[in-house]
Amino acid sequence: STSGGTRVQEEKILVTVRMRPLSGREQSLYDLIAWDCPDQQTIIHKSANPERPTTAYMFDKVFDPYSTTQKVYEQGAKSVALSVLTGINATIFAYGQTSSGKTFTMRGITDHAIHDIFQHIAQVQEREFSLKISALEIYNETVVDLLNRESGPLRLLDDPEKGIIVEKLVEEVVNDGQHLRHLIGVCEAQRQVGETALNDNSSRSHQIIRLTIESTLRDKSGHVESFLASLNLVDLAGSERASQTAADGTRLKEGSHINRSLLTLTTVIRKLSGGKKSGHVPYRDSKLTRILQHSLGGNARTAIICTISPALSHVEQTRNTLLFATSAK
Ligand code: ADP
Ligand code: MG
Repeated sequence: STSGGTRVQEEKILVTVRMRPLSGREQSLYDLIAWDCPDQQTIIHKSANPERPTTAYMFDKVFDPYSTTQKVYEQGAKSVALSVLTGINATIFAYGQTSSGKTFTMRGITDHAIHDIFQHIAQVQEREFSLKISALEIYNETVVDLLNRESGPLRLLDDPEKGIIVEKLVEEVVNDGQHLRHLIGVCEAQRQVGETALNDNSSRSHQIIRLTIESTLRDKSGHVESFLASLNLVDLAGSERASQTAADGTRLKEGSHINRSLLTLTTVIRKLSGGKKSGHVPYRDSKLTRILQHSLGGNARTAIICTISPALSHVEQTRNTLLFATSAK
């Protein structure tokens, strides 16, 4: 029913799947492509036996290996990213196993979003905008500032007015796209420092780049209207770390493998997509979900881009990713 006015529109989470091309290594090992993308919303496991029916997975969009990052951005992220320009918090995730294309995809998405945001700011003369960036990494439930790695582990505080705050997290004011891209480059370099220090860092850690936009409109009578909203661009740990079981089905020891933040995020997403009746949403159970609490669910907009490998050798992890993506719809 259209009761109009005050009722909050419950937006669905935008869920898309991107399949990368076979890598050079996979080709040289004669790996095979295990999946078909018969149309732009469906993905099907290729069956060796045509008599045997296979499951079709359906999403808001499916991007085949020939899809450009521009297309992935336009159809899988743009509307969510730009909602920040109207004062709505937004989060865009890349979810998938290690080497499926999360970082590749998020870099492109971030670049396109930055371009569009500054274009909007230049076009909308009547409003004033100010933009800030902060960036952090969560590794083993430890939060590190990617713009100031020397600061050491950061604490999360509950502020009665502002909500969750990451204590001492640096926020840099940015004036143009070039400056912003430079700072993101600094964050990426910091993440690579972690890569050499900690074995396999990027498969275990989450990276959040947060752009905070403040905007003010002053009309001729002196009336002021303003908003503050943030866009979170999230490159998640490898999804193989969301599983409590090994490839052979045995239960893994907690801590050796499971990533608490990733596991909690999957639960939170599942609850949010289940609607009101699904009960308590356990935001408080991990650092990642606490930090993103105000940009997930409620009035916030969310896009999840699930990245998958086409390879037969990765079919089990790909299936797990598609099952997560299905539960997020
Ligand atoms: P992840 O961050 O999920 O571990 P990466 O983004 O590092 O994976 O991707 C793994 C490799 O595959 C990289 O060499 C990357 O450049 C390449 N790759 C990923 N996605 C694509 C794509 N859509 N097109 C071409 N190459 C890709
Ligand atoms: Mg990566």
